Amino acid sequence: MSRPAVLIAGAGPTGLAAAVELARRRVPLRIFERERQRVPWSKALAVNPRSLALLRPSGVTERLLAEGRRLTGMEIWDGGTRRLRLRLDRLPQPYPFILSLPQSRTEAILEQVLAEQGHQVERGVTLELASGGLQARHDDGRVEALPDGPVLAAEGAHSGLRKALGIGYPGHRDDEDFRLADAELDWSFDPDSLIVLLTPRGLLATIPLPGKLRRLIAIGQDPLTLLPAGTGVGTVPWTSQFTVSYRLAERYSEGRVHLAGDAAHIHSPVGGRGMNLGIEDACVFALLASQDRLDAYGALRRPVAQRVLAATERFTGLVTLRNPLLRLLRNHLVLPLMGTALVQRRLVPAVAGLNYPNPVEALERGSA
Ligand SMILES: Cc1cc2nc3c(=O)[nH]c(=O)nc-3n(C[C@H](O)[C@H](O)[C@H](O)COP(=O)(O)OP(=O)(O)OC[C@H]3O[C@@H](n4cnc5c(N)ncnc54)[C@H](O)[C@@H]3O)c2cc1C
Repeated sequence: MSRPAVLIAGAGPTGLAAAVELARRRVPLRIFERERQRVPWSKALAVNPRSLALLRPSGVTERLLAEGRRLTGMEIWDGGTRRLRLRLDRLPQPYPFILSLPQSRTEAILEQVLAEQGHQVERGVTLELASGGLQARHDDGRVEALPDGPVLAAEGAHSGLRKALGIGYPGHRDDEDFRLADAELDWSFDPDSLIVLLTPRGLLATIPLPGKLRRLIAIGQDPLTLLPAGTGVGTVPWTSQFTVSYRLAERYSEGRVHLAGDAAHIHSPVGGRGMNLGIEDACVFALLASQDRLDAYGALRRPVAQRVLAATERFTGLVTLRNPLLRLLRNHLVLPLMGTALVQRRLVPAVAGLNYPNPVEALERGSA
């Protein structure tokens, strides 16, 4: 008897990565996306070495590398003094860098590979739970009953399937208001490093994008106003702002429906783990689906997100400190300590998403 198709709700990075991996493992699938067009915003920029390793077998990584920018370090500056330098280029693994690429390009590449594998995203179609079971609601008003089969809810933070199944999404929202701007800068900092400036008025993080732009991020104020005097500012094609929540789904699976990506966990973008964690969920889901072992999915993935959430919240708290005394302690004590070889050995793998074994390799070896 042929295996039922896996039904994927959502063609963000999580749903697309799941589809590509299912197709590579020859599992039948359908993938539905509510929106007719992909949003052009860059959102997540950081593709970490773990995601690059996971997406290598499908050929996605090669294409991401061709377009992305390799970030080999991270520096934290306090006035004219460099307080911390983390080197990513010493990671003992095939991708010793964070790849900077706008999320819209990562999604486009995943979708292109999926098309070459023979699958199209069904756009303008919303997957929903009705009394008769799962159905696909097409934009033209048609409603299609869907056959049984595993379902991946990769619908983002406001997942309708999670809500319809009554799965709680407890957590809290931060008061901090993150402001973003993509800008062309003329300054003297390392062009291939993530640069964080601790200014008297607050923190400014800057991430190089492919090409000439940098993504600037500040909290509660316009990031352009925190640039050091004398910085040349060219075009600013995009600005945005958002608040951050920390939430983790009470459970990852309910019957045949499984949650992944932002539908299952959200946290601050500090550390750049959100999209990458979703890609990891997707790859584990696809492997387990190919082995008919999806009952193991939630127990494997929820504890990972729980740890990442806790670490991200601690790290975000450190960078967003308001108390002047604590800021002084951070700048003069904590950051220099973080620069020691011992701490770097633990910190760099965490930033790179490599602080636990590759879960797909572990499952394939039978050690998870
Ligand atoms: C400004 C910003 C910066 C960020 N920076 C980073 C970063 O540097 N690194 C990082 O790792 N993360 C970052 N993130 C987080 C990252 O963008 C998200 O973690 C990522 O988009 C989650 O992917 P996803 O596929 O799980 O969900 P989404 O990207 O939200 O995709 C879900 C998709 O499902 C569709 N959908 C919803 N419901 C249905 C349905 N019922 N049927 C069909 N389709 C449906 C939606 O239209 C959407 O396209 C950032 C986020 C923001 C906002």
